[in-house]
Amino acid sequence: MDTVSLTGKELAAAINADTKQRAAARTEAGAAPRLALIVATDDPASAWYVNSLRKAAERLGIACDTVDLGADASADTIRAELAARSADSATDAIMLQTPLPAGISLDDVSSAIVATKDVDGVSPLSLGLLASGLDGFVPATAEAVVELLKQHEIPLEGRHVAVVGRSNIVGKPLAQLLLAENATVTVCHSRTADLPAVTSAADIVVAAAGRIGLVTGKHVREGAVVIDVGTNEAADGGIVGDVDAESVRGKAAALSPVPGGIGPVTTALLMRHVVVAAENASD
Ligand code: NAD
Repeated sequence: MDTVSLTGKELAAAINADTKQRAAARTEAGAAPRLALIVATDDPASAWYVNSLRKAAERLGIACDTVDLGADASADTIRAELAARSADSATDAIMLQTPLPAGISLDDVSSAIVATKDVDGVSPLSLGLLASGLDGFVPATAEAVVELLKQHEIPLEGRHVAVVGRSNIVGKPLAQLLLAENATVTVCHSRTADLPAVTSAADIVVAAAGRIGLVTGKHVREGAVVIDVGTNEAADGGIVGDVDAESVRGKAAALSPVPGGIGPVTTALLMRHVVVAAENASD
């Protein structure tokens, strides 16, 4: 079977074209949309990602302040910065980069981000709104999975989707978004017994575990659609996903590549959220 490559570049370009116009309209009306990127890590992969977000913002006409609190910042310091930015009328959107300093989890600090500026949907309020089916910002990576499937005209209603990973920023919000699309969802995680048996029963498998090569041909049934959310650092310094593409290709009907699949759509959606936050603030 030929395996179609579900690339994200085309969708990202379409989202970005719209975002750029809307950002320009905000600039003309008084001020460019402004994103505060809060960093408290010296992790090199994070530095690369933050830099790529800054460049994406710049290309789209979004102002971006990077606030580096240092890798030894305390939870109180991080919360105070998030609260200050939440109260600052010049800041439209806030994103807190992970990982955080050792011993601090996203849940320890994310409630300090006001929901109207929480463009990556990480605060308990944003996650609760999503679980309740109410309006709010949704984690961009989870949204990217659903948008990429839709753009490639892969139906979700009534389909069985296995999500591998249950984090608050990818697996759990994705399960909620898929339920809202009327899919039947199974969420798998590190304690799932017999992962291949569960995933190979699904029409669509989404790998979001952060484990290189976790999903192989034996995890996927003939003709399934596979979405690879993983962005793991390879031995050669490049980026590889969670799916062993070689063993899945030829068996799956479609597979999203890494890089070039979910990644560009995630960044595009995040930037769209920044513009939406700015538009909402000006209403
Ligand atoms: P996380 O470490 O918070 O969560 C990983 C999840 O995978 C956990 O729920 C865990 O139970 C599950 N898991 C781990 N090992 C497993 C196993 N052997 N079998 C089944 N489940 C297992 O990670 P995260 O923040 O959710 O990120 C997941 C992946 O997605 C990472 O590779 C991350 O880099 C990537 N990611 C990509 C983007 C993007 O824009 N493309 C954005 C965010 C995260």
